[in-house]
Amino acid sequence: MDDDPVIRVLARQALAALDFSVEEAEDGESALEALAQSPPDLVLLDVEMPGIDGFETCARLRALDVGREIPVLMATGRTDSETIDRAFQVGATDFIKKPLDWQLLQHRVRFVMRASHAFGELRQTLADLRNSQQRLASAQRLAGIGHWEWTPGERQMLWSEELYRILGVEPRAGASTLDAFLSAVHADDRERLEKALRRAAAESTPWSLDHRIVPASGSQRVVHHRAEVNRGASGAAELISGTVQDVTERRRSEERIRYLAYYDTVTALPNRRMLSEYLTRVIEQGSQDDHRFALLYLNLDRFKRINDTLGHAIGDELLRRVATRLTTRVRTTDYVGHVRTEHAATISRLAGAEFALVLSEIASPEDAAPVARRVLEILDEPFEIEGHELALTAKVGIAVYPGDGSDPNTLMRSANAAMDHAKRDSREGYRFFSESMNERALRCLELENHLRSAAERDELVLHYQPQLDVSSGAITGVEALARWDSEHFGFVSPGEFIPLAEETGLIGPIGDWVLRAACSQARQWLDAGLPPLRIGINVSSHQVRKGTLLETVARLLEESNLEPGLVELEITESALLGDEPEVGQTLEGLKTLGVRLALDDFGTGYSSLSHVARFPIDCLKIDRSFVSRIHVDEQANAVILAMLAMARRLRIQVVAEGVETEEQEAFLRSEGCDLLQGFRIARPLKVEALEDLLRRR
Ligand code: C2E
Ligand code: MG
Ligand code: MG
Repeated sequence: MDDDPVIRVLARQALAALDFSVEEAEDGESALEALAQSPPDLVLLDVEMPGIDGFETCARLRALDVGREIPVLMATGRTDSETIDRAFQVGATDFIKKPLDWQLLQHRVRFVMRASHAFGELRQTLADLRNSQQRLASAQRLAGIGHWEWTPGERQMLWSEELYRILGVEPRAGASTLDAFLSAVHADDRERLEKALRRAAAESTPWSLDHRIVPASGSQRVVHHRAEVNRGASGAAELISGTVQDVTERRRSEERIRYLAYYDTVTALPNRRMLSEYLTRVIEQGSQDDHRFALLYLNLDRFKRINDTLGHAIGDELLRRVATRLTTRVRTTDYVGHVRTEHAATISRLAGAEFALVLSEIASPEDAAPVARRVLEILDEPFEIEGHELALTAKVGIAVYPGDGSDPNTLMRSANAAMDHAKRDSREGYRFFSESMNERALRCLELENHLRSAAERDELVLHYQPQLDVSSGAITGVEALARWDSEHFGFVSPGEFIPLAEETGLIGPIGDWVLRAACSQARQWLDAGLPPLRIGINVSSHQVRKGTLLETVARLLEESNLEPGLVELEITESALLGDEPEVGQTLEGLKTLGVRLALDDFGTGYSSLSHVARFPIDCLKIDRSFVSRIHVDEQANAVILAMLAMARRLRIQVVAEGVETEEQEAFLRSEGCDLLQGFRIARPLKVEALEDLLRRR
């Protein structure tokens, strides 16, 4: 573009030599018009022109869309810095001095073309880069992945856009520090992350871990965090880079999937699959030989009818209510007579109207029967749902591990079979899988039913077994032993009915009856003019723990006007186990009353010595199991000698129980045992027989 036609011709020649095709214009306006029509690869522009000058033309050209990137070479007669500045300001790519040196022009044009080409490529690359950065950022945003880079030892880190979002940090210069990162991490997870970072720096080990993020605002997230280490030439960690992926939603849906797979959606109880896995675990964990547990299958009778007549909504609600009653009201203490930590049975819903209970802490298989009865009793109370009063009955099948199956499937089949059996023949509403268990459970139940009224019906009696005082050779005491002469079962041994009474809570009234009967007997003997006899009365650990023992004994002593020193309460070690202060208080109270305390079955318990020293005991009763081994095994002799020595030191009397033979008697006499009790002296006797014996002596 030049107003001088000669220059235009010469320029055309020079440019044509470089294989340019050339368009000419004689002023700015027409040049811009032509340019807009078909943009050239290069503009050669004269500065001094009539009309709009070269500067103005260049500026307008740059303002056009097509003209923004065309290289413009300006020709000017003036090369003062002001002119040159101006040329670059309006967007010239380069300038050349007038008068034009045609050869120089050719070089300059070639150079400008090459530079502009290279520049164009760079621009393209930058644009591509920007695009791909944007794409990466949006991909990271979509995937919830943030990215960071960190040079070990430095405070500052490099964070991607998405990472700021995940951490809940405002993107500001200098915000992306290691400290800022760590303080966004849940306090309980921070140490783990720090440790991983330190390890990565020290040992160049990549890692991945899941942790929680607590953003300054917004809710807690779970992230999956991975890191890699770039090692320098020396092998040391130079740069650690990591990705942080927000997996909160995924975890949530995993949990949901797990929930759906393992829980029943109606009742929120574990389902059959969960039960099966739980049983597998229980079986694997129980290593001891006596490990047993019971599986109870419960089926609601005619549940389908409720569903059909009242609709599924009410049916579902009923199932939920059943689930609630079972989970809140069936407890292990329902079936374990001894004091233990109470915990709920594990309950699941299997299908339709079928539930399962696992009793993992049973001492003996029969323990499952009272739970089954309890379950049936709980369901017996009618349910009230939306104005309907619904009565339910149910059947329970019981299988016991390992007898009825040593794997979950067999056990479940057995429990199911037992339940079917209960449906057909349901006197009690529940059945054990094995017949022998049914008989035992039935006997237990019947015994229990009759035991309730045994005291009222005068079926209990006391027999008395004499105790011989070694030094005086006189009978100075007796032990009262309960007997149940049942109209229904015949004679039942206390070994059978006392534990049953303890489990069912009947020990309370029975124990009271024994205490009263023994005291009144002692009174009668005194009234009949017999010499005062010490009377041993067995007291169960339940009575000791219940807290009314002291009161009862005090009242009975007063009623029968007995000297307290004549009453000796026999307590087993198990009553002293545990640290309840009440037990100590009760014993102290009894001591204050003046009653004697004997430790029964000594040696069969646990930490014998410490109990003797800790409690106000007057007398030890060495258990029959030691006495019967005198001279049979040397160790038994040694143990008895140790017990005698200890008792002497503590000034406690010793009674040997179950003395049967002459050798046993001789050994015990020679070693200084105070009192002897056993068949060798006399069997437990009825009142009359005892009185005869005392008179004869
Ligand atoms: P225990 O208190 O250790 O009573 C001693 C047991 O050994 C009695 O059995 C007695 O008959 C038996 N026995 C005594 N001498 C000999 C002997 O020389 N050889 C053999 N083989 N046995 C002998 P029993 O009467 O069957 O009582 C068993 C357990 O029942 C008692 O053991 C006691 O723990 C409990 N018991 C009995 N009566 C009562 C009671 O009224 N209340 C409570 N809570 N428990 C009682
Ligand atoms: Mg006893
Ligand atoms: Mg005993």
